[in-house]
Amino acid sequence: MMKQLFLLLFSVLTIAAFPQNMDYAHYVLNNLGSEDFKGRGFVGGGDKTAAGFIKSQLDSLGVKPVGKSYFQPFTLTVNTFPEKIFLSVDGKELIPGKDFLLDMHSGSADGKFPVKTVTLSELKSGIPKNLKKSFVLLQNDTQDKDAAKTIRSIVYANLLNAAGYLLPEDKLVNEPATEVFKHVVIKVKSNVIDSLPKVIKITAKNKFLKNYQTQNVFGYIQGKTDSFIVFSAHYDHLGKLGERATFYGANDNGSGVTMLLNLANYFTHHSPHYSILFMFFSGEEEGLLGSFYAAQHPVVDLKKIKFLFNLDMVGTGQEGIQIVNSTVFKRETSILQEINDKNHYLVKIKLRGPAANSDHYPFYDKGVPSFFIYTLGGSKQYHNIYDKPDQLSLFAFPNLVKLLIGFEKQYQ
Ligand SMILES: [Zn+2]
Repeated sequence: MMKQLFLLLFSVLTIAAFPQNMDYAHYVLNNLGSEDFKGRGFVGGGDKTAAGFIKSQLDSLGVKPVGKSYFQPFTLTVNTFPEKIFLSVDGKELIPGKDFLLDMHSGSADGKFPVKTVTLSELKSGIPKNLKKSFVLLQNDTQDKDAAKTIRSIVYANLLNAAGYLLPEDKLVNEPATEVFKHVVIKVKSNVIDSLPKVIKITAKNKFLKNYQTQNVFGYIQGKTDSFIVFSAHYDHLGKLGERATFYGANDNGSGVTMLLNLANYFTHHSPHYSILFMFFSGEEEGLLGSFYAAQHPVVDLKKIKFLFNLDMVGTGQEGIQIVNSTVFKRETSILQEINDKNHYLVKIKLRGPAANSDHYPFYDKGVPSFFIYTLGGSKQYHNIYDKPDQLSLFAFPNLVKLLIGFEKQYQ
């Protein structure tokens, strides 16, 4: 009992003593990127499991809700495939996530379909008829450098009026969809199918979620002033495709959430000058939906936000970090550079202009001074089933935390 008490005291002291507690970081990241969180999407309530976890972490760290609740509910619309998916090509069963993805715009399909190969040159002499009950594989037999683009637009618009398409790709990248087609688009890894496949068997049933209620999660720490430094990160990811393929989203963006909770751990033990607001967004992958909602329904006066740091994909850092908006907010950039030069925290700080590529954007658009920081180098796993906690080095993680803490101290 005494030994346990000593250990407990010891770990509490350790957490309090260091700005970055890597044990805590791994604990959070491993949870967010585990099977239980179902890829933090909208199949099986993965988003709710993740939001509940973040809330309980904030609560136990002593980070207070803004108002009555940690949650800000909002609704979104998204296409999903919650049930078992089956696909075989010429009798060979393919594995979802590993061998193929369904483009998330796809509708349902069930049955056996012949595969017709059509070349781009053939299309020049007219659109082939009677493909209604077939899947089409479009082949590029031209020198056209935009051929891949052309194929995509034909496939998405279903110009050939087919039941579906096979779209061979070298790399599988999953993207969510907020609308649904009548046809089916299968992105299949080029090296797992024959160049002229003959027949497919498919069972895939989509569920179009209309006005699904999800939530942002907010918490704050009172500082000496009422102006805020905000740290934001989206906690949602792509969820699951069928029962077997999970998109764990360890880097995107378990890493950012982990960094926010580490900052929360620090600032609850070391009173900050500014009040610190933490914003965890849902619906980022569907088009920054949570952050747009939060910027339109702000929980604190946007004018009181002195600066906002959005962290999205911060699980690597072998080649330093990149800062979106650093060319706009030059004074803040030079503060970060100065702290970094003095302490040698990061190997490189690369500058970049504005971009609407993550959750800082809806706030920046409303006049909130903001940066979006992501790490460079390391794991290249992106929007696939391999973006898992064990792929991440967290190379720059402790020092990026220190850099942000240093900024809060120095910024006036
Ligand atoms: Zn993403």
